[in-house]
Amino acid sequence: MRALIVSDVHSNLEALESVVEDAKNRGGFDEIWSLGDLVGYGPDPSACIALLRLHELRAVAGNHDLAAFGRLSLESFNDYAAAAARWTAEQISTEDADWLASLPLRIEVEDFTMVHGSPRDPVWEYVVSVPVAAVSFQHFTTPRCLVGHSHVPFLCVTGQDGPKFLEFRLDDPVPLGNERIIVNPGGVGQPRDGDPRASYAVYDSDDGTVVHFRVEYDIKTTQDKMEEYGLPKYLADRLSEGR
Ligand code: ZN
Repeated sequence: MRALIVSDVHSNLEALESVVEDAKNRGGFDEIWSLGDLVGYGPDPSACIALLRLHELRAVAGNHDLAAFGRLSLESFNDYAAAAARWTAEQISTEDADWLASLPLRIEVEDFTMVHGSPRDPVWEYVVSVPVAAVSFQHFTTPRCLVGHSHVPFLCVTGQDGPKFLEFRLDDPVPLGNERIIVNPGGVGQPRDGDPRASYAVYDSDDGTVVHFRVEYDIKTTQDKMEEYGLPKYLADRLSEGR
């Protein structure tokens, strides 16, 4: 079984389409595993939901998904995120909203726990530091955990002196042994690690590996739609920088 692992699609249809195409060209996949924030920020919430739902799908909700149907107060969002969340809530259908509302915050699939933020706080906490990683390892019981939310790809393993963050190198299959590991595939629709290409991972259960890939997409088309729909310019501009 091969799973295409995506996170933080953020209503970026061009990025999501490129990722799906690229993954098909790289051996294909049987399922999509989505780590949340499918909507928010970008111009195509409904189309992104529809595209994901065409596939066998395992998905959890992120903070932006919860905001899109009113489960989360926008007070905790910055101005740009709140403006985009309000816009998203107006765009999506009742069916889309109901579907987002049906998503759990945490699921276990095979040897993986899947959450958006961290296993301690799936909605808000970022796994970006050694102390948070240390706590995170105490909050799941499966060997492996998948997180998103920071839009920055990484691997984190348990070392002798505590957790260790490792670079999730491109195109280089990482063997998953018995060692516990936290994996972030990076962001599809709004990368923040300085590389504007869409970021994703593929898990292969037969050879027990996970691989990190990047793919270019038509950023200009996404930005043009954002301008046309009156979404904050800052959110469109940052796509070019991957920041
Ligand atoms: Zn996000």
